[in-house]
Amino acid sequence: MSEETLFTRIVEDEIPSDTVYEDETTYAFLDVNPLAPGHTLVIPKEPYERLSELPPAEAADVFSVLGEITAAVEAAVDADGTTIALNNGEAAGQEVPHVHWHIIPQFEDDTARPIHALFDGAELSDEERSEIAARIRDNR
Ligand code: 5GP
Repeated sequence: MSEETLFTRIVEDEIPSDTVYEDETTYAFLDVNPLAPGHTLVIPKEPYERLSELPPAEAADVFSVLGEITAAVEAAVDADGTTIALNNGEAAGQEVPHVHWHIIPQFEDDTARPIHALFDGAELSDEERSEIAARIRDNR
């Protein structure tokens, strides 16, 4: 866990933000470079870098409010849906090393697109898929 990140400075009010939610463990605020109106970031206050570092109790805290904040974002900007995304690690495009969920409103008549549009797709045989599933089970 890092000691301080850009987002801990936001939580501590050293950097101003448009805060939309706060409790003992969780914080949510508008993204300063929004991909859509209402683009919101939800974070644990503690600066865990990756999802796998987030202790289950704090993950439960974040998830207990994520749906509620998402509904409020959708209502606030009259969105038809939302993409909830987490860039986990630099290779996935994570720029701020403090785990965070993006809530990105989508609009049917606008640029709505599924997460599948981000990837080229991988051609795998049934055997290759089964082997990957076995390796995932073994690594848990
Ligand atoms: P990542 O690429 O790490 O998943 O996303 C980091 C997000 O943080 C980006 O969408 C970026 O716009 C947002 N961001 C970066 N600096 C600031 C800031 O100072 N304030 C706010 N509110 N958002 C920020």
